[in-house]
Amino acid sequence: MPEIIVKPSTLRELWVMLPELPAARRYLAGGTDIVTADNAGVEPSRCWVDISALPELGAIKETARALFIGSCVKISKIEASAAVRKWCPALTAAIPHFASPSLRNMATLGGNAANGSPCADGACALIAEGAFIFLALKGSKRRLLLKDFFLGPKKTALKKDEVILGFEIPKRRHAGAYFKLGPRAYFGISKAAVAVTAEISGGVIRRAAVALGSVAPVPLLAVKTGAWLAGRALSPGSAALAAALVKTEVAPITDARSEAGYRREMCGVLLERALNSLT
Ligand SMILES: Cc1cc2nc3c(=O)[nH]c(=O)nc-3n(C[C@H](O)[C@H](O)[C@H](O)COP(=O)(O)OP(=O)(O)OC[C@H]3O[C@@H](n4cnc5c(N)ncnc54)[C@H](O)[C@@H]3O)c2cc1C
Repeated sequence: MPEIIVKPSTLRELWVMLPELPAARRYLAGGTDIVTADNAGVEPSRCWVDISALPELGAIKETARALFIGSCVKISKIEASAAVRKWCPALTAAIPHFASPSLRNMATLGGNAANGSPCADGACALIAEGAFIFLALKGSKRRLLLKDFFLGPKKTALKKDEVILGFEIPKRRHAGAYFKLGPRAYFGISKAAVAVTAEISGGVIRRAAVALGSVAPVPLLAVKTGAWLAGRALSPGSAALAAALVKTEVAPITDARSEAGYRREMCGVLLERALNSLT
């Protein structure tokens, strides 16, 4: 455990507090990653800054054009949101695959993204939703496409002390799916996962996005496959061709959880199933 844990009650209070704190500090949201790392002896911070109660990070908001999910909203609250179900079908489909109900009561999307894991289910689904990530550091704020936030395993665009405010998902009527292959239903870190979103009219895909987890150094947007799908009839034939193409876009590795060649094959299988589920 760190020597110091502090809990600001507003963002403004956070920025005032930071210069007084030890340099080796990290934010604490739901704690499901950071406490696990601490228990494993690989969390070196002297200070945790608990941001879980900051009101600026804790709400789901809807505007005319977008849905905003605060970084510290619990996954279980996202699961219960009618607005998320309406505007984020791939994220909605991903949540039952996310850990277990008890973990979902603690974990957040901000922690999921900041952790920088290539297997992050929330991040993968949000990339397929075309989400933007909003970041703040003292007075300055910036917005990135979420797909550009991930730089490598455990590496993100976050600067020291920068806070993830939340995620903005443009409101577009679309279908979505999330298919994950893991060792078991709960607590299964994935061997491969596929998120797909598609705007479909008259049986034709007008626009599509395909994102994959656990098969590249980052949660990956399969740009070529998404572009190829646009303008195609949604059919078992196009799903099979997209499945062949997506296998050329991924860069899986062999590790304790799975083997590279198997993972690549499964990307095709999962995408084909996901696309066929949209018909
Ligand atoms: C048993 C178990 C099962 C799991 N299963 C899954 C799974 O199926 N799918 C999956 O994707 N993940 C899974 N995880 C991983 C974990 O639950 C998620 O990554 C979760 O979303 C992390 O969120 P948190 O709020 O708990 O993050 P925390 O542990 O609080 O923080 C994680 C990291 O993010 C930083 N951080 C947190 N919030 C912010 C913010 N707003 N701004 C800047 N930095 C921030 C922290 O400093 C820390 O470095 C599992 C973990 C465990 C222990």
